[in-house]
Amino acid sequence: MKKKAMFYKRLDDDKVHCYLCPHNCLIKEGDLGKCSVRLNEEGSLFSTNYGQVTALSLDPIEKKPLKFFKPNSKILSVGSFGCNLTCSFCQNYSIAQFTDYHSHSQQVSVRELSDTVFNTSDNIGVAFTYNEPSIWYEYVFESAKLIKERDKNKSVVLVTNGFISEEPLKELLPFVDAMNIDLKAFSNEYYENICGGRINPVLKSIEIAAKECHVEVTTLLVTGENDNLEEIEDLSKFLGSIDRDIPLHLARYFPMYKMDNPPTNIDLMYEAKEIASKHLNNVVLGNV
Ligand code: SF4
Repeated sequence: MKKKAMFYKRLDDDKVHCYLCPHNCLIKEGDLGKCSVRLNEEGSLFSTNYGQVTALSLDPIEKKPLKFFKPNSKILSVGSFGCNLTCSFCQNYSIAQFTDYHSHSQQVSVRELSDTVFNTSDNIGVAFTYNEPSIWYEYVFESAKLIKERDKNKSVVLVTNGFISEEPLKELLPFVDAMNIDLKAFSNEYYENICGGRINPVLKSIEIAAKECHVEVTTLLVTGENDNLEEIEDLSKFLGSIDRDIPLHLARYFPMYKMDNPPTNIDLMYEAKEIASKHLNNVVLGNV
């Protein structure tokens, strides 16, 4: 279903400027933005994945991963398709990197999603995950707002790459309880070459979000790309400068999608944990 997008401006000759994320796409009439899910139709911008659900599942909160937010609970997890980054190692590439998903997704209205959240037993709320929630913005925003209006104790969680502009992030945060934000590396070169993004907006998102809700950070250590201990120490120092209590998940990488480097060395994972623990109180290893 198409829905009029938020956070864009109409320009001359039917072009639009989308400023939902730091790509700041200028989109010609009939074209999509870099995320491939926002379409310029006659000078208006539309979200094309609004309400299109590809996956819905009741997951343990630890699977998000959130280790220090309502532990041992379960959360209804929902996702659509599309992403604004193009990571070569994408773990969810089948839904994140392919956008011709309309025939494989089901339309779920905001009210239906909210009813499912409330009718699912043993469920603390909703987690927007699987694909990038920030480019599913209109649906995520409306759903989160409605769920909070119905019961402010229901939890709203985002599992995100953090590559979102400040204004939309700040507008969404009042309805969000917890986030897991990927910090893919501590180098802009890595973001540009491997993920098709930039690091600074992600660092800013972590800083902003950490003031407003529970934040945990995940870094996938990719062999030969971002697994040097100096970089891991710099990354941990940055997080520690915001708050030493921000949990950091150091996740082991396995070959996936376009990346065939060997899996992360296990001994290095333990060394990385030791180094990161100099700056942070809660460092957790994942996939080991
Ligand atoms: S959300 Fe999509 S269209 Fe908008 S700026 Fe980001 S990549 Fe471009």
